[in-house]
Amino acid sequence: MPRFEPCLNFIGGTWCEPKTRQYGDNVNPANGEVLGLWARSGPDDLDDAVRAAREAQAAWRLVPAPERAKVLRRVADLLRERKDEIARTLTMEMGKVIEEARGEVQEAIDMADYMAGEGRRLFGQTTPSELPNKFAMSVRAPVGVVGIITPWNFPIAIASWKSLPAIVAGNAVVWKPAEETPLTARAFAEVYQEAGLPAGVLNVVYGDGPVVGEAMLDHPGIDVISFTGSTETGRHIASRAGANLKRVSLEMGGKNAITVLADADLDLAVEAILWSAYGTSGQRCTAASRVIVEHAVEGELLARLVPRVEALRVGDGLDPAVQVGPVIHEEALGKIQRYVDLGAQEGARLLTGGRRLTDGPLARGFYYAPTVFAGVRPEMRIAQEEIFGPVLAVMAVDSFEEAIQVNNGVQYGLSASIFTRDVNRVFQAMRDLDTGIVYVNAGTTGAEIHLPFGGTKATGNGHRDSGQAALDVFTEWKTIYVDY
Ligand code: NAD
Repeated sequence: MPRFEPCLNFIGGTWCEPKTRQYGDNVNPANGEVLGLWARSGPDDLDDAVRAAREAQAAWRLVPAPERAKVLRRVADLLRERKDEIARTLTMEMGKVIEEARGEVQEAIDMADYMAGEGRRLFGQTTPSELPNKFAMSVRAPVGVVGIITPWNFPIAIASWKSLPAIVAGNAVVWKPAEETPLTARAFAEVYQEAGLPAGVLNVVYGDGPVVGEAMLDHPGIDVISFTGSTETGRHIASRAGANLKRVSLEMGGKNAITVLADADLDLAVEAILWSAYGTSGQRCTAASRVIVEHAVEGELLARLVPRVEALRVGDGLDPAVQVGPVIHEEALGKIQRYVDLGAQEGARLLTGGRRLTDGPLARGFYYAPTVFAGVRPEMRIAQEEIFGPVLAVMAVDSFEEAIQVNNGVQYGLSASIFTRDVNRVFQAMRDLDTGIVYVNAGTTGAEIHLPFGGTKATGNGHRDSGQAALDVFTEWKTIYVDY
């Protein structure tokens, strides 16, 4: 299939037009050009996909897990072969710089390799029975059909975190990718197809969240919803799909902070802040949007940080010299600007940035200047709400204890980091930071696929993507007693 033809649904192993015969555009945020079209499906298309998934799952669950894992190994190999091409597509669709896009495809490769290994584990338990001549054990059984709903900011990594464990565990999948990143989704589905995944085990239905996503929440043929996206959408999904007694796994927003204590290595901290705050133009769930710094080193930290922020090269992510790409679309620019204006009104000091970039070729795309606010107070909205752009709020505190309090004083709980040379502070922070992920002397980003990934409070509902913990979302414990 040539690139940039309409992205069709992938149902029962066949690429099919939506019954609605309607298509949406996807736009390159670097220059505003239309890259292609995606099927704007309706509930009937979803019905077809769920039917195909249920049929396929009946056979797939009977395939031994180590055999299922062989498909995942081929997925990993094919992704390795197509890594550069998929990374370019990803950069064109959502804007992250090419090196980050390669890193994201690598995450999917690593996840395929890792989850293929799980196909040989999928451990249950045997325990001594209380009774004679009885054998007692528990096994992990597939749940059935898994509905996957993904965001645009990690269009292949997050899809891989969810679909690979679901499939190796013997489920079938119906996946609704984000509207903004259909081409990356198509490439991933092509890889599954070429890897020999039986027809119907993975189905892709493109569409609008409030139409196809919404229909998934009510569909009786879907047993699990695994969602990553905003907290607002996640709350809605929890109430709707939860009321239908579906298992619901939610990974949502973040307001992550880097804490810099007075004894920290400031150069190390500056490097970490740059990457965590402005990588992917601040549009990562784990992006650092707050810095909490002890008063004693605030001036020195800002003196080193601000010139580095101003030196960041902003532009089209396909250019390897560019460090910060565009944001996803015009609406995102508007939201970022509203928060920046609000920050100024709330009394924060704008040290750099604070405006859309429109010089030369940047005028055609959606670029925002990397922005730093100082003098931020923890209760300000720019310190509480997820902006999802290259905007950093710096807050000064008097003590380690106050830093922990400020870090934890937001509704979100995804990742947190602390820079210090004091081993006691390190262990206290590991204990007291109320987030799903804690980094010590490193930024707030950079998850490894073999460990659980997810957050507390309004970031998650207790489930985890990634690592063995992901299998808890996609399997049921079945307890078995055998009398002999
Ligand atoms: P979003 O909530 O707008 O959309 C996410 C997905 O939900 C899309 O596929 C969308 O079509 C779908 N959707 C929208 N309305 C729906 C509905 N009514 N029913 C069902 N599905 C619906 O989020 P986004 O803008 O694509 O992504 C950015 C958000 O994702 C940020 O808040 C970010 O922090 C979060 N995120 C979290 C993690 C994590 O692991 N915690 C990772 C990446 C992104």
